Amino acid sequence: MNELSIGIAGAGLLGRLLAWQLGRTGYRVSVFDPASGPQPVFDGRQAAAFTAAGMLSPLAELDNSSPEVAMLGWRSLALWPQIAGAMKAPPHFAANGSLLLAHRSDLGAAQRVLARLADALPGTPQAQPLSLAELQGLEPALHGAAHAWLLPKEGQIDPVAAMRSLHDEAAGVHWNWSRRVGSVRDDGALVLDDGTQQRFDLAFDVRGTGARPELPVRGVRGETVWLHAPGHELTRPVRLLHPRHRVYLVPRPGDIVLLGASEIESEDRSPVSLRSAVELMAAAHSVMPALAESRILRLDANLRPALPDNEPCLEVTPHRVRINGLFRHGWLIAPALVEDALQACGLTAQPAKEFADERS
Ligand SMILES: Cc1cc2nc3c(=O)[nH]c(=O)nc-3n(C[C@H](O)[C@H](O)[C@H](O)COP(=O)(O)OP(=O)(O)OC[C@H]3O[C@@H](n4cnc5c(N)ncnc54)[C@H](O)[C@@H]3O)c2cc1C
Repeated sequence: MNELSIGIAGAGLLGRLLAWQLGRTGYRVSVFDPASGPQPVFDGRQAAAFTAAGMLSPLAELDNSSPEVAMLGWRSLALWPQIAGAMKAPPHFAANGSLLLAHRSDLGAAQRVLARLADALPGTPQAQPLSLAELQGLEPALHGAAHAWLLPKEGQIDPVAAMRSLHDEAAGVHWNWSRRVGSVRDDGALVLDDGTQQRFDLAFDVRGTGARPELPVRGVRGETVWLHAPGHELTRPVRLLHPRHRVYLVPRPGDIVLLGASEIESEDRSPVSLRSAVELMAAAHSVMPALAESRILRLDANLRPALPDNEPCLEVTPHRVRINGLFRHGWLIAPALVEDALQACGLTAQPAKEFADERS
């Protein structure tokens, strides 16, 4: 047991990844979160991590983020298999590339997006045009798009399964549910809403949209549709160029296809609108007709935590670390950001591979 005490405010993606890394290294870790427990409830108020599609798309995300985000993404794509490989119940993870599709009328828009991607980060994987026969060979379930590209090496992870395993397998971590942190002080104290304080050698503020007013974070609404589509055959995430939404279809274990996502500058946490649901489902059906008979399992809405420049921030001081602004790329970049944070404050995290070797 390492005697250093660590407090973590927030049990979302970052909080669980930190707790998992630090707990198994032997630090004394306590996590605080207003949620009533570790499981997802899909009420629009839970961690954004549960609502996420889990696309790991450093290339496609370059269309609306910086090369630094893409580099964090490529690093994280190499870290996720190590993390999953160290788990007893690993979440589904795959990195067989993703697909970008466009209807005939959207070819001009697609070419403009592809030109931006090609210029943004030379030396990293680039989009490859596919003939319709090649598309059929890769994903027979897709019909209807006139143009297709493969985005090589992009991936996906199952967020709900990953959140569960990060919690369940975080060794020795003390989880404090139904405990809201009002502020995280720079001396390592967490000030709880019930007026009590808990002092740690090091405190992490990873409260996402809950870190206001200490950080100028805002929520950006996103909506998703969960479909049950037995035998759907889709194996890779698919993006469809669409005039209003960045529409994607993500296959998940259990015959699920997840459709996402709207991006609305609003902190409205109310249920999914008819307009978003109709547009997402119509767009998905236009490239995967077999979805017609799928069943709608869930409509989910949540807020992505974003800073004014839409870039992530990592702020390290002697007793407090803040990580926030993961916006639409949290699953894509969290492992590399956590690695940078632990390194910056001199904490050792047991390398995942070493841990896996020990277990076997
Ligand atoms: C619709 C949608 C689709 C997405 N799709 C993708 C995707 O495909 N790929 C991708 O990489 N990313 C995606 N994301 C983004 C990703 O989910 C976020 O970037 C990520 O969850 C941010 O992680 P976080 O730990 O900072 O915040 P969160 O996961 O939101 O966790 C924050 C935690 O802090 C807790 N908290 C809040 N206030 C307090 C308080 N006062 N005290 C203590 N705890 C508090 C919350 O309860 C929560 O548990 C998507 C998000 C949405 C909404």
